[in-house]
Amino acid sequence: MVREATRGEAIARAAETPHIVLNAPLVGQRLGYAELSGLDLLELFAFIHPARFAVPTPAGLSRAVGLEPPAREADAAAVLRKIAAMLLDVLGDPTWAEREGAWTANASLQRLGWGWAALVGARLERPERGERMLFSRLPQWEESGEQAPPLATSVAPRDAEAKLAELTGKDAEPRQGQKAMAATAAPVFAPRQARDGPNMLLAEAGTGIGKTLAYLAPASIWAERSGGTVWISTFTKALQRQLDSEGRRLFADANERAKRLVVRKGRENYLCLLNLEDALQGGFAGRAAILAQLVGRWAAYTKDGDMVGGDLPGWLPSLFRRAGSTALSDRRGECVYGGCPHYRRCFIERAERAGREADLVIANHALVMINAARSRETAPQQIVFDEGHHLFDAADSTFAVALSGQEAIEMRRWIVGPEGRSRGRRRGLAARLMDVASYDEEGGRALEQAIEAARALPSDGWIGRIAEGAPFGPVEALLAEVRGTVYARAKAQDAGYGLETELADPDGALVDCSAAALETLEALHKPLSVLSRRLEAVLEDAPDWLDSQARARVEGAINGLKWRRETLSAWAALLARIGGAADADFVDWLSVDRVDGREYDIAVNRRWLDPTRPLAEAVLKSAQGVVVTSATLRGGDGWETADQRTGAAHLDSMVGHFEAESPFDYGACSEVLIVTDIRQGDIASIAGGYARLIEAAEGGTLGLFTAIARLKAVHARIADRLARAGLPLLAQHVDPIDAGTLVDIFRDDPRASLLGTDALRDGVDVPGESLRLVVMERVPWPRPTVLHAARRMAGGGSAYDDRVVRARLAQAFGRLIRRQGDRGVFVILSAAMPSRLLRAFPSGVRVSRVPLDEAIRRVREMLASGERSVVERGSEAVADFD
Ligand code: SF4
Repeated sequence: MVREATRGEAIARAAETPHIVLNAPLVGQRLGYAELSGLDLLELFAFIHPARFAVPTPAGLSRAVGLEPPAREADAAAVLRKIAAMLLDVLGDPTWAEREGAWTANASLQRLGWGWAALVGARLERPERGERMLFSRLPQWEESGEQAPPLATSVAPRDAEAKLAELTGKDAEPRQGQKAMAATAAPVFAPRQARDGPNMLLAEAGTGIGKTLAYLAPASIWAERSGGTVWISTFTKALQRQLDSEGRRLFADANERAKRLVVRKGRENYLCLLNLEDALQGGFAGRAAILAQLVGRWAAYTKDGDMVGGDLPGWLPSLFRRAGSTALSDRRGECVYGGCPHYRRCFIERAERAGREADLVIANHALVMINAARSRETAPQQIVFDEGHHLFDAADSTFAVALSGQEAIEMRRWIVGPEGRSRGRRRGLAARLMDVASYDEEGGRALEQAIEAARALPSDGWIGRIAEGAPFGPVEALLAEVRGTVYARAKAQDAGYGLETELADPDGALVDCSAAALETLEALHKPLSVLSRRLEAVLEDAPDWLDSQARARVEGAINGLKWRRETLSAWAALLARIGGAADADFVDWLSVDRVDGREYDIAVNRRWLDPTRPLAEAVLKSAQGVVVTSATLRGGDGWETADQRTGAAHLDSMVGHFEAESPFDYGACSEVLIVTDIRQGDIASIAGGYARLIEAAEGGTLGLFTAIARLKAVHARIADRLARAGLPLLAQHVDPIDAGTLVDIFRDDPRASLLGTDALRDGVDVPGESLRLVVMERVPWPRPTVLHAARRMAGGGSAYDDRVVRARLAQAFGRLIRRQGDRGVFVILSAAMPSRLLRAFPSGVRVSRVPLDEAIRRVREMLASGERSVVERGSEAVADFD
């Protein structure tokens, strides 16, 4: 029987007896009872079907287990019991594919007090023979020989066109823009023409052109003929996933596809098996230990061990309030390589080796840039930067330097290892290099000196000591001075968020402290350099005990040391500037990071005024061929802007430009409305506007905000009202769910709406009726930071701001129409929208300034003019939307 209960009764009942729930943290948050726990269906699903995708809603989970989704919200409670029964039935099914390991994992989960363990245990047959250990079930990677350099070869435009025709299929409608792009991109893959610059093409391809296949066609031909690898670099995980699935067109056979098309990410994304083993053997306690067991189930069935955006459900870590999930990856570069018992099965090592032999590697901008910057030998030679309008920002953060308390403490931990009460297997340099240190006297001495010098860096409790005016050591003393300067100079102190101030005219105390901190950094840099040299010498001498595993461990240490020495040098250059002359190439500033008034980091920061300079030097100039593409590469401006934002302006070689307009008739399928009667900053009327617009569109709305505080305030005012109308409202920064899963839920439910900030403006790919209205609360002006002020001054003042805003508007509008047949309205709730910014929108789109009532009428009208009702159509399969 299903009946309604009041909030109070629901809390009381749930506290008394464990109930079946779906996403306990979310339900708890909606009830205002954060401690809610129970029999969470998502945990059961993760146990029974690890590495399988499911949208974490009653409808999504119903579909995942083969049930009809509930027609009405009131039917959802009954369906939860059915889902539980169907899942538990799987345990007795002899064809259950994920049986191996379940009995052992459940026995551990029972000891940990997992709610489902008894029910699962009662239905699971004890295996006749003991189950193999998880780690011995994982496949080993094979060592491959040296890769031969790619052969010099070219791709003729007609070959690229023919390949494109093969990929799109003979029945596909010919798309001229796509064909032209494939032909224009082909010469980029020829041997390079200039000594110090790649063959480079900037291609702006409007939404709907099909640019992915347009560049994959020549790229795949080149890879096949030359034996080399093309790196396809994206900014968002959504595009990475899309590219991964486009691989089916290139390589129909799954085994071949797995070899020739590989997704690569930064190592911090992958599960570290040594950390997992530590967690399974008692390193984790309470709920985190349960998470470790479920991750252990997943590890045996995952395609590639990618924990972020791979096949680990994005919702799984948030069920455990993220307890422990980050400690399962190798975030701090503490890998012991050949010294690790799981080295031959390690997901990271496997991905890296697979990438070396693949035709196409799908990666992100940051990884491509880091690989190129760290070593010219391993720098990608042929690169396609998709979502190229993000290159500037990606380079900006990749080439940034920050000497902060958090960064310095990471450096100390990497060298010194665990201190005081810290748990776990984390080891310092001495433990990792014990054998080398006892073999090589000079190396051993350098190691001791490095550890001694690292003890002068900040340690646990540093921020508390600074707040109390009792810093320890020269770097903490410097950060204390930085903090004092920031509080003395920064404006807007009461909002409780980050504070910053320019690094100009530092006072005497700050200059003195930086000189002392500089000495500390140099005292650490020297023994690390000696140690690196000695390790290289040991590799060259190759003593008897240096087997291939020890060699891999020493090589790992050399790489780690190189990276740390570079960081120390960058910090030293930054400190040398305090009290010295400013460098016009950089923007330096001081900051205190806070959340809700609580301080969590203090830093001296440095960014390149123009980060495309190191991008050009480190990445572009060493490449053979580079295609940069995006639907909004110019952001409503000319090619000069695109050249500047992609690094092309810093190359001596010729750069080609290509442009193909979107085939969509934007004038017929979309319009832009600027609402004139909502006062800026009046939260009550902004919230009212959102609620009425969402009601008019019957959901299907993406609400974009420029400040988290305003997003939260609007959500708090309208969520209940919309829920009563059967219109679910999801919100980033409010719901305890990761952004990727929020988008999955939004996509899956045409009556849902989603509120979010920047990440959603750029990463939401929801074709079909699930997204039919985008509402921006105000014009997305850049925040007035020190960095922004410097770039604004260098970039032409208000013209620079205009460029930034136009690019953001173009991106936001781009969420609306993703494929042929989409319709939608774009609303800005701010009359203060300058007309000069309106060219951010595609030509043909009607832009009107109207009162809210009229906007609501137009939203209804636009949606009613669709062929079918929104609810009937729902969200349809993704066809072509790049
Ligand atoms: S080789 Fe390194 S990253 Fe891989 S499992 Fe071992 S310690 Fe973790």
